[in-house]
Amino acid sequence: MPRTAMWTGERDQGWLAPCRHAEGRLALHAPELPGTGRPMFLNPHPVRQRRAMALMLCDICAKPLRNRTKHLLSPGRYVVVGDRALRGYQEPCVCADCLPLARQWCPHVQRLEPWPPPIMRRYKTMCCVLAVAAFAEIAGKGDYPKPAVGYVKLYMPEEAVVAQTRARKVQR
Ligand SMILES: [Zn+2]
Repeated sequence: MPRTAMWTGERDQGWLAPCRHAEGRLALHAPELPGTGRPMFLNPHPVRQRRAMALMLCDICAKPLRNRTKHLLSPGRYVVVGDRALRGYQEPCVCADCLPLARQWCPHVQRLEPWPPPIMRRYKTMCCVLAVAAFAEIAGKGDYPKPAVGYVKLYMPEEAVVAQTRARKVQR
């Protein structure tokens, strides 16, 4: 069970407040009541997700991954930052000890190829600002007066490529 999965009992009481795991910026919050109701595997809890990213914790055992092997269980998604395209990873990494467990229990992980999955190298974090409409999707009902940080993503600066839009401009 990913630690960062949101539970149905944590929904419908969302609010915005500064978050120390989001560089002190205004961010989406939800009560932390893991184990209450049903887990929502595709929906990370905003506070647990940001904490796992900012402190680099394993998504299964929650132990710090600093100076340890960090397995990536998601292919990431390209985001454009300035003139660079980067692959942003929203799912926290998993330690080598927990990897077999993830493979045993999670159908998504069973389908991953290649195996073992790639390893996170030198990385940085980025705060992703979400529109108000996204907050209701993540945390249900709540008080969301303006856009704020939803999740923190990881990226590897060495993976950066020049964004395609810019590349096309250069070719002209
Ligand atoms: Zn672990």
